[in-house]
Amino acid sequence: MVDIVILGTIGLDDIETPFGKVKEALGGSGTYAAYASSFFAKPGIVSIAGEDLPKRHIDVLKKRNISMDGIEIKGRNFRWGGFYEFDMNEAKTLKTELNSLADFDPELPADYKKAKYVFLGNVDPTIQLKVLGQIEKPELIVMDTMNFWISSRKEELIKAIKKVDVLVLNDSEARQLFGTVNLVNAADMALDLGPKAVIIKKGEHGALLFFREDGKRKHFSAPGYPLEVVKDPTGCGDSFGGGFIGHLAKTKNLSEANMRKAVIYGSVIASFNAEDFSLERQKKLTWGEIERRFHELREIREF
Ligand code: AMP
Repeated sequence: MVDIVILGTIGLDDIETPFGKVKEALGGSGTYAAYASSFFAKPGIVSIAGEDLPKRHIDVLKKRNISMDGIEIKGRNFRWGGFYEFDMNEAKTLKTELNSLADFDPELPADYKKAKYVFLGNVDPTIQLKVLGQIEKPELIVMDTMNFWISSRKEELIKAIKKVDVLVLNDSEARQLFGTVNLVNAADMALDLGPKAVIIKKGEHGALLFFREDGKRKHFSAPGYPLEVVKDPTGCGDSFGGGFIGHLAKTKNLSEANMRKAVIYGSVIASFNAEDFSLERQKKLTWGEIERRFHELREIREF
């Protein structure tokens, strides 16, 4: 039985940052989110991979407590290429090859349909809706997206947002989706669509959690962790999402106080992820390190 269904890509990434470059590295929104959530609970990935996905990449996921039963193997793998300039807050996309993802029509394994926690990671919103339609009684649906789908599938994306509990997106995506430079306005517009909470990630500057109580907007602000080493921020958004839903699935508590903690756990995993390329840092990450950074984040914002 899986605790969390994680939809997303399994990608082959070509990435260049001011600190190095990698080719055909393991990436993808599903990979990062599932790996991050596996520190907390048992995820099952829903994705499509290509026949060209190297076995060593599949082994990275197999070594974790991650169910692979929802992965279909067909055709050529999803490939993404991007680079970061000195300000590494935003990835510049060089290529997006959907390949087998273009006609992915997911059919969930029977036990996935019974999952209570669902993370609709960054893919075509049509696929996000297809997965959501197969979950029998979800208790918490968290959804992520990115500029590519905001530009190409806005109508479907809005349809999907109306069905989720928590929408996660970064600051530039929030501005793009809601046509405003003001993040508070963007959060209000997102909450008007139906989600109970909206999280706006601000890269190295932390994240904002917006929700409403008795009709009034409230928010929680999580600091960014002051990292000494940042090599590659790819996958930080997905890792944030995985850590966030992972903590909620582990504790089965959707109170506001626990959501705040989940935002901090998400930030902690995302901060570690930026310390190296691909999944390299997360592969070495221990629970003790996660807890230490969680407590440090509590200390640095106390006044
Ligand atoms: P993040 O840095 O968390 O926003 O996500 C980076 C990951 O998203 C990379 O590993 C890519 O393989 C994957 N990715 C890039 N573009 C897309 C897209 N259009 N749809 C789904 N996944 C994507």
